[in-house]
Amino acid sequence: MNSLGADTSADPFDRFPTLPADSYATHEVMNQATPLTGHNAFTGDKLLTEIARREKICWADGLLTDAGATVASAHVAKLARDANRNLPELKSHDRFGNRIDQIEFHPAWHELMSLAIGHGTHALSWTAKQPGAHVARGMLSYLWNQGENGICCPLGMTYSAIPALRLQPELAAIWEPFILSSRYDATSAPMQRKTGGTVGMTLTEKQAGSDLRATQTTARPAAARRGPGEAYLIDGHKWFFSVPHSDLFVTLAHTDRGLSCFLLPGWLPDGSRNHLQIQRLKDKCGNKSNASSEIEYRGALGWLVGEEGQGIKAALAMTHLTRLDFAIGSAGLMRRALSEAIHHTTGRRAFQRSLIDQPLMQNVIADMALEAEAATLLAFRLARAVDDEQAGDARAALLVRIGTPVGKYFNCKRVVGLVHEALECHGGNGFVEEGPMRGSIARRRSTASGKAAAISSPSTCCAPPPGRPRAYPPSSTRCGWPRVATNASTG
Ligand SMILES: Cc1cc2nc3c(=O)[nH]c(=O)nc-3n(C[C@H](O)[C@H](O)[C@H](O)COP(=O)(O)OP(=O)(O)OC[C@H]3O[C@@H](n4cnc5c(N)ncnc54)[C@H](O)[C@@H]3O)c2cc1C
Repeated sequence: MNSLGADTSADPFDRFPTLPADSYATHEVMNQATPLTGHNAFTGDKLLTEIARREKICWADGLLTDAGATVASAHVAKLARDANRNLPELKSHDRFGNRIDQIEFHPAWHELMSLAIGHGTHALSWTAKQPGAHVARGMLSYLWNQGENGICCPLGMTYSAIPALRLQPELAAIWEPFILSSRYDATSAPMQRKTGGTVGMTLTEKQAGSDLRATQTTARPAAARRGPGEAYLIDGHKWFFSVPHSDLFVTLAHTDRGLSCFLLPGWLPDGSRNHLQIQRLKDKCGNKSNASSEIEYRGALGWLVGEEGQGIKAALAMTHLTRLDFAIGSAGLMRRALSEAIHHTTGRRAFQRSLIDQPLMQNVIADMALEAEAATLLAFRLARAVDDEQAGDARAALLVRIGTPVGKYFNCKRVVGLVHEALECHGGNGFVEEGPMRGSIARRRSTASGKAAAISSPSTCCAPPPGRPRAYPPSSTRCGWPRVATNASTG
């Protein structure tokens, strides 16, 4: 009895009838596909393993098998989802009003970066001593584009920065070991205090995208000496500055001798922040996990790469491999979309059959499988050409020069339509953000469109290469690949 005389020992719920456990259920949940996780995106991909066998990169089998399991795991699916739902935030100032220009990420972003960098997705081409290192690294990129596409932007730029860096060997000697490190370090600090870093490419301005000669940013010597490897002070803006938290940037600015390429560190040798101010983060379509920004240089310190006036040539040393990475990444996105379409249509029935057994759906899936296979073959044929070029093959160098922009253009165009088809295969479920794997197919469709527009716009990829090679070596070596059967399953 309480002070009011009520009996508190009796359970008030005793007065209600007990309902059956499922009394709220109006229906049984059935005929829904399961999440696509737990397979191996390398060993389960017949075409990829066949390419690895032909390219004789069995030395990378263990690494690729590990990456294949990681990118398809439920854990990475959750990380990818978290990284895309908890957006990066710009912290321009600390709470005391000091300018800091830092980006805050959800821990999921950093864990994804750490996993992919641990595999060498940003570096294997330059660190492996075995032949076929560009193909092997390309496979890591292909796999990680299936895991989380946003992180592939910093990974691809870091990979492709090395040729530009090597144009200035004394700068490469300082930065290369840091960049190629497989120990990701999330701290925002000078390189001396970090275990590894990433590179960003900051070329485009408001008025200058495809036509980089319209760049307005200027550079002047920081001291009496000028020329390759010397320091310059840079003033101006950049309009599409992805991965603004990187440790090093490849950038363009006009000196009084013409458009020139510079390496610009995020931090200065004395431990202070370089004079680079992040104005705002872009509200991009597609993947949300990666930060892209608009920035201003206010007397930022950069080191000249190559001769003054040769900036586009130096920057192209980087964009060339970025294009290759985009061709590979688009093929990876296609594979992922195909796998999801197959998985969904296998697990869903309509009109008394699994969707995948419906003749019209089989047409769609078969077309998609052909597209994805063609894109994959094209991408890795180009990666092999880069390996051959590095080994001194002049024919391969010609193929790389002409084929890479074509590959970037073609794969980045085709991926959009293919992902759209995959979206349609999912019916209404394709349009829901809470997708079975790392966000929706719809987001991947926007990401795919972004790949087409980014770095080298369609027209720049279609422009004829400067100068016409005069003599072609005789056609004695095999250029193409015979087709191989694709295992269209996801397992
Ligand atoms: C997701 C994403 C990430 C990006 N990240 C970066 C980054 O990290 N660093 C960076 O520097 N930039 C970045 N960019 C910017 C990108 O490099 C530019 O958007 C691209 O170079 C095109 O430039 P623009 O936007 O000024 O378009 P424009 O140059 O204005 O072109 C608009 C359209 O006109 C076409 N066009 C241009 N010239 C011709 C011509 N002569 N004939 C016919 N058609 C033509 C183009 O193909 C394009 O379709 C990114 C873009 C995206 C979408």
